[in-house]
Amino acid sequence: MSTTGENVEVAVIGAGSIGLAVAYYLVREYGVSRIALIDPRDPMSLTSAQSGENYRNWWPNPTMTAFTDDSIRLMEEIARETGNRINMTRRGYALVTRREDPHDLIEDLYRGYAGQADTLIRFHNGSNPHSSYRPASSAAWEDAPEGVDVLCDRSLIRQTFPAYAEDVATVLHVRRAGSISGQQLGQYMLEQIKAAGGKLIRGELVAIEGTSPFGLSVSTGDGNLLIGAESVVNAAGPFLKDVARMLGEDLPVSCIYQQKISFEDHERAVPRSLPFSIDLDGQTLDWTEEERAILAEDPTTSRLTQFITGGIHCRPDGAETGKWIKLGWAFNERPSNPHEPEPMDNYFPDIVLRAASRLQPALKTYIGRLPRGAHHYGGYYTLTEENWPLIGPMKTPGAFVAGALSGFGTMAACASGSICAAWVTGNEPASYARRLSLERHNDPAFMAELTALQGRGLL
Ligand SMILES: Cc1cc2nc3c(=O)[nH]c(=O)nc-3n(C[C@H](O)[C@H](O)[C@H](O)COP(=O)(O)OP(=O)(O)OC[C@H]3O[C@@H](n4cnc5c(N)ncnc54)[C@H](O)[C@@H]3O)c2cc1C
Repeated sequence: MSTTGENVEVAVIGAGSIGLAVAYYLVREYGVSRIALIDPRDPMSLTSAQSGENYRNWWPNPTMTAFTDDSIRLMEEIARETGNRINMTRRGYALVTRREDPHDLIEDLYRGYAGQADTLIRFHNGSNPHSSYRPASSAAWEDAPEGVDVLCDRSLIRQTFPAYAEDVATVLHVRRAGSISGQQLGQYMLEQIKAAGGKLIRGELVAIEGTSPFGLSVSTGDGNLLIGAESVVNAAGPFLKDVARMLGEDLPVSCIYQQKISFEDHERAVPRSLPFSIDLDGQTLDWTEEERAILAEDPTTSRLTQFITGGIHCRPDGAETGKWIKLGWAFNERPSNPHEPEPMDNYFPDIVLRAASRLQPALKTYIGRLPRGAHHYGGYYTLTEENWPLIGPMKTPGAFVAGALSGFGTMAACASGSICAAWVTGNEPASYARRLSLERHNDPAFMAELTALQGRGLL
């Protein structure tokens, strides 16, 4: 049975970080209140619940730097207004390598910070007696400097990061970076949306009829609900393609499953003041001869005996007085169908621990004896080939997309919401925003430039 629901100005499909942020900025910046947020699940319960909740403005490209800088600025605004309800901290990202002269990483820094690079990039080596490098003295975001400190002096690195292995030769300490509570951010936005008159509708969008105003067919526990909407925003996360198909369109995205573990660090292997630490060097995992032989024999595990690219990350989680730590490694490259069961890899906890203990040897204590209560979880990075998001108009007039936020949707939610809200209301979004829309795919020269970039900023 179908019931006719109300007509709204904007229907947002998906109440994850991105859908909520779009609705929030429609309310906040443009006073749009006739909004329906449509989702069969609890808000923030799909991909957004799996986020490591880290943020940074480190990207090998100025557009992505400007995008995340804007998002951080908007998060700061909310932190300030709410007495830091979103638990924003700023101990930075420490990008670590054993290479003494990682010129490609330094070039990426210059490209990313572009016009501001000379003031934002600071080098610290043994021959610089006036080195002004100071590690974060607290987690407070207001106290942290801007830019990045490049540490190329082994004794300075040892002194600052004694938990790291002795072979580390260079650390890029990105300072405008840290963690937030994505869940609190989403909850706060939802409260503001509801207070302004927006509605959360528990149901799954199953069909879109006509053109603007669209007729949306939503399957709820009580049958089908028909909703009229002048504009539709596709913020369906891993299901972006399904919603696009309802409009007769396709979107160039795929879903790649990535995993994390978290556990109580009873042995205090990871100092509570450690920045989010990323080992950029790839490695061949350290197995015994016997283990190696068993893994190599099986085609599903043989890749674990081969070289795997870097990006292993680790950070303390939660209160400074707490014990939890989080580890992750987005090394999977195989796309999955998000309608099928999640491809959770039972080897992952062991793999990530072995890999992370190369940078932080004290973690070795947990190999083969992960503490009871440890969590192993994962979710989809929904992403484009170039790992840039899709925010802006779809081909159908009145339809918009805000998605493909890969592994950076928590940090970029605010800017994504603000940009998409501008598109929906016919306002001019930030100057760089066209490059984040589908429009960039019509510019082959620009796409070739992106493809030629060595790093995609994928962590
Ligand atoms: C393991 C992991 C670690 C991560 N770590 C970080 C990090 O440290 N920092 C960071 O910034 N980002 C991180 N991310 C990325 C971030 O979590 C995502 O980019 C972000 O959560 C995406 O939000 P979303 O709203 O697009 O998608 P989702 O949270 O998946 O929300 C989409 C919503 O759409 C709904 N939906 C789908 N289809 C329909 C339909 N037909 N009708 C109605 N509703 C529908 C779904 O039910 C869902 O609730 C990580 C991701 C993973 C997987």
